[in-house]
Amino acid sequence: MGQIQDLRCVTCGSSYDPQTVEYTCPNCGPRLGTLEVHYDYAAIGRQFDRDAFAAQSDASMWRYLPLLPIESEEYIQPLRVGWTPVYQFPALARELGLSQLYVKDDGRNPTASYKDRASSVVVIKAQEKGKAVVTCASTGNAASSLSGFAAATPLETVIFVPQTAPEAKVAQLLVYGARVFLVKGSYDVAYDLAAQAAEAYDWYNRSAAVNPYLV
Ligand SMILES: [Zn+2]
Repeated sequence: MGQIQDLRCVTCGSSYDPQTVEYTCPNCGPRLGTLEVHYDYAAIGRQFDRDAFAAQSDASMWRYLPLLPIESEEYIQPLRVGWTPVYQFPALARELGLSQLYVKDDGRNPTASYKDRASSVVVIKAQEKGKAVVTCASTGNAASSLSGFAAATPLETVIFVPQTAPEAKVAQLLVYGARVFLVKGSYDVAYDLAAQAAEAYDWYNRSAAVNPYLV
Protein backbone atom coordinates (compact mmCIF):
# COMPACT_ATOMS: atom_id res chain seq x y z
CA MET A 1 0.00 0.00 0.00
CA GLY A 2 1.24 3.46 -0.85
CA GLN A 3 4.30 2.02 -2.60
CA ILE A 4 3.90 4.07 -5.81
CA GLN A 5 7.01 6.17 -6.34
CA ASP A 6 6.11 8.09 -9.47
CA LEU A 7 4.70 7.86 -13.00
CA ARG A 8 7.41 7.74 -15.67
CA CYS A 9 7.11 8.52 -19.40
CA VAL A 10 8.24 5.59 -21.58
CA THR A 11 9.42 8.02 -24.30
CA CYS A 12 11.24 10.92 -22.56
CA GLY A 13 11.73 9.42 -19.08
CA SER A 14 10.15 12.40 -17.26
CA SER A 15 8.90 11.61 -13.78
CA TYR A 16 5.50 12.80 -12.53
CA ASP A 17 3.66 12.93 -9.23
CA PRO A 18 0.50 10.76 -9.58
CA GLN A 19 -1.45 13.55 -7.85
CA THR A 20 -0.66 16.07 -10.59
CA VAL A 21 -0.70 14.06 -13.85
CA GLU A 22 -3.72 11.89 -14.65
CA TYR A 23 -3.09 10.10 -17.95
CA THR A 24 -0.15 10.75 -20.30
CA CYS A 25 3.11 12.75 -20.39
CA PRO A 26 2.32 16.45 -21.03
CA ASN A 27 5.59 16.82 -23.02
CA CYS A 28 5.05 13.86 -25.35
CA GLY A 29 1.24 13.92 -25.72
CA PRO A 30 -1.31 11.09 -25.65
CA ARG A 31 0.15 9.15 -28.60
CA LEU A 32 3.74 8.76 -27.34
CA GLY A 33 3.57 9.78 -23.68
CA THR A 34 2.45 6.51 -22.07
CA LEU A 35 3.22 6.60 -18.36
CA GLU A 36 4.39 3.62 -16.36
CA VAL A 37 3.79 3.26 -12.64
CA HIS A 38 7.06 2.94 -10.72
CA TYR A 39 7.08 1.40 -7.27
CA ASP A 40 9.47 1.62 -4.35
CA TYR A 41 10.88 -1.84 -5.08
CA ALA A 42 13.47 -1.58 -2.29
CA ALA A 43 10.72 -1.02 0.30
CA ILE A 44 8.61 -3.84 -1.18
CA GLY A 45 11.67 -6.12 -1.18
CA ARG A 46 12.23 -5.51 2.52
CA GLN A 47 8.63 -6.51 3.30
CA PHE A 48 7.99 -9.33 0.84
CA ASP A 49 9.87 -12.05 -0.94
CA ARG A 50 8.96 -14.91 -3.26
CA ASP A 51 8.07 -17.21 -0.33
CA ALA A 52 5.72 -14.61 1.17
CA PHE A 53 3.78 -14.37 -2.10
CA ALA A 54 3.76 -18.17 -2.52
CA ALA A 55 2.38 -18.58 1.02
CA GLN A 56 -0.47 -16.13 0.38
CA SER A 57 -3.85 -17.87 0.74
CA ASP A 58 -5.87 -15.29 -1.27
CA ALA A 59 -7.06 -17.03 -4.45
CA SER A 60 -7.41 -13.83 -6.46
CA MET A 61 -5.14 -11.24 -8.03
CA TRP A 62 -5.17 -9.33 -4.73
CA ARG A 63 -2.52 -11.76 -3.45
CA TYR A 64 -0.17 -9.41 -5.36
CA LEU A 65 -1.56 -6.27 -3.69
CA PRO A 66 1.88 -4.81 -2.77
CA LEU A 67 2.73 -4.80 -6.49
CA LEU A 68 -0.55 -3.26 -7.65
CA PRO A 69 -1.17 0.51 -7.90
CA ILE A 70 -3.78 0.63 -5.14
CA GLU A 71 -3.71 3.08 -2.22
CA SER A 72 -7.04 2.30 -0.50
CA GLU A 73 -7.90 -1.31 0.28
CA GLU A 74 -11.42 -0.23 1.28
CA TYR A 75 -12.41 0.02 -2.40
CA ILE A 76 -11.49 -3.56 -3.33
CA GLN A 77 -14.70 -5.18 -4.62
CA PRO A 78 -15.99 -8.50 -3.32
CA LEU A 79 -15.87 -9.92 -6.87
CA ARG A 80 -13.19 -12.57 -7.23
CA VAL A 81 -10.84 -11.71 -10.08
CA GLY A 82 -7.70 -13.43 -11.31
CA TRP A 83 -5.94 -16.58 -10.03
CA THR A 84 -7.85 -18.47 -12.72
CA PRO A 85 -6.98 -22.12 -13.35
CA VAL A 86 -4.57 -23.47 -15.97
CA TYR A 87 -5.12 -26.78 -17.71
CA GLN A 88 -2.64 -29.05 -19.48
CA PHE A 89 -3.42 -30.14 -23.03
CA PRO A 90 -0.99 -33.01 -23.78
CA ALA A 91 -2.61 -34.04 -27.07
CA LEU A 92 -2.52 -30.50 -28.48
CA ALA A 93 1.03 -30.03 -27.14
CA ARG A 94 2.14 -33.16 -29.07
CA GLU A 95 0.44 -31.94 -32.22
CA LEU A 96 2.26 -28.59 -31.96
CA GLY A 97 5.58 -30.22 -31.08
CA LEU A 98 5.69 -28.71 -27.57
CA SER A 99 6.82 -30.53 -24.44
CA GLN A 100 4.10 -28.84 -22.34
CA LEU A 101 1.13 -26.63 -23.09
CA TYR A 102 -1.10 -24.87 -20.56
CA VAL A 103 -4.32 -23.01 -21.29
CA LYS A 104 -5.43 -20.42 -18.75
CA ASP A 105 -9.21 -20.23 -18.28
CA ASP A 106 -9.87 -16.50 -17.85
CA GLY A 107 -13.54 -17.20 -18.59
CA ARG A 108 -13.77 -17.78 -14.81
CA ASN A 109 -13.46 -14.05 -14.14
CA PRO A 110 -16.67 -12.24 -13.08
CA THR A 111 -17.56 -10.91 -16.55
CA ALA A 112 -15.81 -13.83 -18.31
CA SER A 113 -12.92 -11.69 -19.56
CA TYR A 114 -9.25 -11.16 -18.77
CA LYS A 115 -10.08 -7.43 -18.89
CA ASP A 116 -11.57 -7.83 -15.41
CA ARG A 117 -8.12 -7.46 -13.83
CA ALA A 118 -7.73 -3.96 -15.28
CA SER A 119 -11.36 -3.04 -14.62
CA SER A 120 -11.14 -4.00 -10.96
CA VAL A 121 -8.10 -1.70 -10.60
CA VAL A 122 -9.68 1.18 -12.50
CA VAL A 123 -12.87 1.30 -10.43
CA ILE A 124 -10.67 1.50 -7.32
CA LYS A 125 -8.54 4.30 -8.80
CA ALA A 126 -11.71 6.18 -9.81
CA GLN A 127 -13.00 6.07 -6.23
CA GLU A 128 -9.61 7.00 -4.76
CA LYS A 129 -9.66 10.05 -7.03
CA GLY A 130 -13.17 10.98 -5.94
CA LYS A 131 -14.72 10.47 -9.39
CA ALA A 132 -18.43 9.67 -9.70
CA VAL A 133 -18.44 8.37 -13.28
CA VAL A 134 -16.18 6.02 -15.27
CA THR A 135 -16.19 5.92 -19.05
CA CYS A 136 -14.66 4.18 -22.04
CA ALA A 137 -15.16 3.54 -25.70
CA SER A 138 -15.27 -0.09 -26.69
CA THR A 139 -16.82 -2.53 -29.07
CA GLY A 140 -16.50 -5.45 -26.72
CA ASN A 141 -15.13 -6.92 -23.53
CA ALA A 142 -13.48 -3.81 -22.05
CA ALA A 143 -16.81 -2.02 -21.83
CA SER A 144 -18.78 -4.96 -20.43
CA SER A 145 -16.00 -5.64 -17.94
CA LEU A 146 -15.93 -2.01 -16.77
CA SER A 147 -19.74 -1.91 -16.51
CA GLY A 148 -19.80 -5.16 -14.53
CA PHE A 149 -17.19 -4.00 -12.04
CA ALA A 150 -18.63 -0.50 -11.67
CA ALA A 151 -21.99 -2.17 -10.88
CA ALA A 152 -20.35 -3.50 -7.70
CA THR A 153 -19.51 0.08 -6.63
CA PRO A 154 -21.38 3.42 -6.31
CA LEU A 155 -19.82 4.53 -9.64
CA GLU A 156 -21.92 5.29 -12.71
CA THR A 157 -20.72 4.04 -16.09
CA VAL A 158 -21.02 5.78 -19.46
CA ILE A 159 -19.97 3.78 -22.54
CA PHE A 160 -19.51 5.02 -26.09
CA VAL A 161 -19.89 2.32 -28.75
CA PRO A 162 -19.98 2.54 -32.55
CA GLN A 163 -23.59 2.02 -33.62
CA THR A 164 -22.46 -1.05 -35.57
CA ALA A 165 -21.60 -2.86 -32.30
CA PRO A 166 -23.27 -6.29 -31.93
CA GLU A 167 -26.63 -6.11 -30.14
CA ALA A 168 -25.66 -8.80 -27.65
CA LYS A 169 -22.66 -6.73 -26.51
CA VAL A 170 -24.82 -3.64 -26.03
CA ALA A 171 -27.40 -5.72 -24.13
CA GLN A 172 -24.69 -6.89 -21.72
CA LEU A 173 -23.79 -3.26 -20.97
CA LEU A 174 -27.42 -2.38 -20.28
CA VAL A 175 -27.87 -5.41 -18.01
CA TYR A 176 -24.95 -4.11 -15.92
CA GLY A 177 -26.68 -0.72 -15.67
CA ALA A 178 -24.38 1.30 -17.92
CA ARG A 179 -25.56 4.36 -19.81
CA VAL A 180 -24.75 3.63 -23.45
CA PHE A 181 -24.28 6.08 -26.32
CA LEU A 182 -24.42 4.57 -29.81
CA VAL A 183 -22.07 6.71 -31.86
CA LYS A 184 -22.67 7.44 -35.55
CA GLY A 185 -19.08 6.75 -36.56
CA SER A 186 -16.11 4.46 -36.17
CA TYR A 187 -14.43 3.24 -33.01
CA ASP A 188 -11.99 6.17 -33.30
CA VAL A 189 -14.87 8.66 -33.13
CA ALA A 190 -16.29 6.88 -30.06
CA TYR A 191 -12.82 6.86 -28.49
CA ASP A 192 -12.39 10.62 -28.97
CA LEU A 193 -15.87 11.32 -27.58
CA ALA A 194 -15.12 9.29 -24.42
CA ALA A 195 -11.85 11.19 -23.91
CA GLN A 196 -13.50 14.57 -24.48
CA ALA A 197 -16.41 13.75 -22.16
CA ALA A 198 -13.99 12.56 -19.45
CA GLU A 199 -12.15 15.86 -19.72
CA ALA A 200 -15.26 18.06 -19.83
CA TYR A 201 -17.21 16.35 -17.02
CA ASP A 202 -14.35 15.10 -14.82
CA TRP A 203 -15.16 11.43 -15.49
CA TYR A 204 -12.47 8.74 -15.15
CA ASN A 205 -11.25 7.30 -18.46
CA ARG A 206 -10.71 3.53 -18.60
CA SER A 207 -8.97 3.64 -21.97
CA ALA A 208 -5.98 1.31 -21.69
CA ALA A 209 -4.17 3.50 -24.23
CA VAL A 210 -3.94 6.46 -21.84
CA ASN A 211 -4.54 5.21 -18.29
CA PRO A 212 -1.21 4.43 -16.56
CA TYR A 213 -2.82 2.07 -14.05
CA LEU A 214 -4.04 -0.20 -16.86
CA VAL A 215 -0.61 -0.48 -18.47
ZN1 LIG B 1 7.38 12.20 -22.18
